Amino acid sequence: MNVAIPTEDKQMQDIIEKVRSGERLTREDGEFLYRSDDLLTIGQLANEANMRKNGRKVYFIENMSLYFTNVCEAHCAFCNFRKDKGEEGSYTLSGAEMIEYVEQHIHPGVREFHIVGGHNNHVPFQYYVDSLKALHERYPDITLKAYTAAEIDFFSRISGLSYREVLEELMKAGLKSLTGGGAEILSDEYRKKMKVDKADVSQYLEVHRTAHNLGLRTHTTMLYGSVEKHADRINHMLQIRELQDETNGFLVFIPLSMQPISPKAGIRRRNSAFEDLKTIAISRLMLDNFQHIKAYFINIGTQLTQVSLTMGASDVHGTIVKERISHAAGALTPEGITREDLIWLVKGAGRIPIERDTFYNEVKIYE
Ligand code: SF4
Repeated sequence: MNVAIPTEDKQMQDIIEKVRSGERLTREDGEFLYRSDDLLTIGQLANEANMRKNGRKVYFIENMSLYFTNVCEAHCAFCNFRKDKGEEGSYTLSGAEMIEYVEQHIHPGVREFHIVGGHNNHVPFQYYVDSLKALHERYPDITLKAYTAAEIDFFSRISGLSYREVLEELMKAGLKSLTGGGAEILSDEYRKKMKVDKADVSQYLEVHRTAHNLGLRTHTTMLYGSVEKHADRINHMLQIRELQDETNGFLVFIPLSMQPISPKAGIRRRNSAFEDLKTIAISRLMLDNFQHIKAYFINIGTQLTQVSLTMGASDVHGTIVKERISHAAGALTPEGITREDLIWLVKGAGRIPIERDTFYNEVKIYE
């Protein structure tokens, strides 16, 4: 049964009616929700929408983040992860070196490697194929969720292969899913202002479309909280929603709160907690064809992640072990978290923790 939501606002009442009757929200609805400061109503409505899809279940995975190289030809304004070749702190690991690192840090129960990195044009495409192959041979039971759409576009440029051919080569090496990074804000104007020096809007979408058509399920993100307007975020969600209508290939939508130390990008402040919660809730309401909205504790902290579970989020990512990209940008959160802490976090919000695999198959229920 739905709780009565007291609001005098006619437009908010219409939106409540639409969400409850399963009618899709429009661009105008989304922009109105961002203009509204009625976080409790928006959050309550997102909670209803989420409960209809997922009940009290909240998902997480035992995973480990790996970064083969931080050398990058691009210079995106907000990025503090990239290095030039030869610069202090730059590295490019071989398959054997990566396996040595994994052996030292892996936890029992890890079932996914989350792999992203720089666009290193000092090594050939075959290096990126061999990296996956080495991991897959050594850990055949661990799912390889690897590379962003922007990296796939970069591989296509350095190899001369089409997106389809690049993906087919990587799938032969063990690729099972793409990560969601590289989307930032899907707007050409934003990408120009923020010097997003990689795949453009149509290329990002085309890589995911191609992957979905090859049978891969993928992840997608939105990096919010810098120069974009609220209308840009809604427009971003609508483009992702449209592709999901076409392919149904996305597993989850991940709003990523911009981290603050980006003087090059003119970013001085963290997003407010209010803005983070509102963005998760609005994502839940706009993306009616997504099963899951993820709260990424690395960027918003564990406490806000917990609160977001009552405002539309149904996934708390995973154990990670050692996160590097957001921490290079100034994240104040831990670099990873234990399974026990994730379970505690979810239970503390009155929800049921579900350990999952990459594809949201349930592995274990922690009642
Ligand atoms: S965001 Fe990615 S592509 Fe852009 S500079 Fe950083 S590592 Fe390179």
